Parts: sequence; C-alpha cells; structure tokens
Amino acid sequence: MRPVIIAANWKMHTTPSDAGDLATTIAARTNVDGVERVICPPFVCLAAVRDALAATPAGAGVGVGAQNVHHELTGAYTGEIGATMLVGLASWVIVGHSERRRDAGETDELIGRKLGRAIEAGLRPILCVGEQLDEREAGQAEMVVAAQLRGCLATFAADPGALETAGLVVAYEPVWAIGTGRTARGSDAAAMADAIRAAVRGLGGGFAGLAGELPVLYGGSVTAATAAEFLAEPAIDGALVGGASLKVEEMAGIVARAGLTAAGRRAAARVAG
Ligand code: PEP
Repeated sequence: MRPVIIAANWKMHTTPSDAGDLATTIAARTNVDGVERVICPPFVCLAAVRDALAATPAGAGVGVGAQNVHHELTGAYTGEIGATMLVGLASWVIVGHSERRRDAGETDELIGRKLGRAIEAGLRPILCVGEQLDEREAGQAEMVVAAQLRGCLATFAADPGALETAGLVVAYEPVWAIGTGRTARGSDAAAMADAIRAAVRGLGGGFAGLAGELPVLYGGSVTAATAAEFLAEPAIDGALVGGASLKVEEMAGIVARAGLTAAGRRAAARVAG
C-alpha cells in the first residue's frame, strides 16, 4: 500500500521568527491518521521549524524538508548548501522544482547529481517533473516527463535500489499549474502519475521494483477546494502544495481530504486481505 503524503513548499516565505509558530499551528490542525506530512521552509527557517515541532506533541510525525540542495557536498560554491549540512535539520529534500529549473537553469543531469548527494546524506527526495503548457497542448506531456525522469535517474542505472531504499517520491507538477490558480484535471494528473511509473519501469532492470511502489504526488495550485479532484484518484498519492501551504485552514482542509484517501486505502487493503 503506497503512503499518502502532503508536502508543504513554503518557497521564499516566512522568517526564522515566525516559521516555528506557523509549523506548529499547521501540525496541530492536520493530525490525521495515515497522512504523512512534510513542511519545507526556506533554509534559514529549518532549525526554527525543527525545534518548534520537537517542542510540541502535535509536531510528532511531521517531517521537515529543504527546498533544494547542491550537487556537490562541499567546495567553492558561494551561497550554496550541501546535503551533509542538512543532516539534523531536515530529513526530506525537494529537487528539480520547476522554479529552480527556470531561475537557476537546472538541468536533468544536474538534478540527478543532487538526487545522488541527497540520498548519500540520508535525505528522502521529492523529485519534481512536469511539462510546459505548449508541451501539453502539443500532446507531448508524457514524453517530456519521461525524458526528465530518464535524465534525472540515469546516474542510478547501476543501483536503482538506492532510490527505493531512500523512499524516492515523484511530484508531477505541470509548470502551467504552479502558482497560477489553474489546476490540471484529476483524470489527466492520474494519467500522468501512471505514465511516470511506466516511464520509470521502462528504464529497465531494477527500476521495475522502484516503479511499482513509487509514490507520485500532484502539485499545482492545490487548495482545500481542489484537493479532492486529485486525492480521489487511486494513482495519486498526495500533493505538493505551494501557496496554500502557508494558510492553516487550507492545509487543514487538504490534509483532512488526504485522510479520507488514506482511510479508503486501508479499508481496501483489509478487504483484499
Ligand atoms: C509548488 O511550489 O510546488 C506548487 C505546486 O506551488 P502552488 O501550489 O502554489 O502552485
């Protein structure tokens, strides 16, 4: 049974003085059976969020994640953060977010190296993939995402098991839906989640084992009002939430809906036996 995960990407919002309060308030309002929660604040707020969550029973079970990591461990990279620096601060990390592909020119090959550093450091990666609007309109969405996966995962050809051990999560985030208020249709996002598992399986060898249990999240303007569209789809295992993840009521609604998905999966597993 694949997990149900709601991950919050706070992007460049919050400060070390307010992030802890927001994290604990969200934690207290989203304690729902069967839903894994992850909060990814800016680097400078990681310690505040970690400490605030540790200081309250409501924070138990809420993971902390970074929004990025460098592709080298140390070196002359001014302003960058290496994976081992995050150990103790975060247990998750987002890699390949479309805003970094756009603003920092990150390529699939570079993102693959980031994945490698994250996994070596024991961080659980959320790998973002997704097509541009013109690519979707041209019917190329599945092809684009498959190419991204191939490029990001190529370096693991000798050991795809490392990705499985690390608990790789893929977030399908159509670029045209991020921060725009425009969402994909649930059925289209589910088809993309299936295509993502098929693309990973198509990489051959040990990738087949990874694909079978690969959690795939949807991301792109998810709110409490739109969450059901995605979380009702059996192929979709949760959401990566940006703008709405800064709002307590939105997160409460999204995680509550994810709880229904988790309960449905538990019931189905009981019936299956
Ligand atoms: C994101 O940042 O990954 C995201 C999906 O943002 P938003 O929910 O704001 O579209």
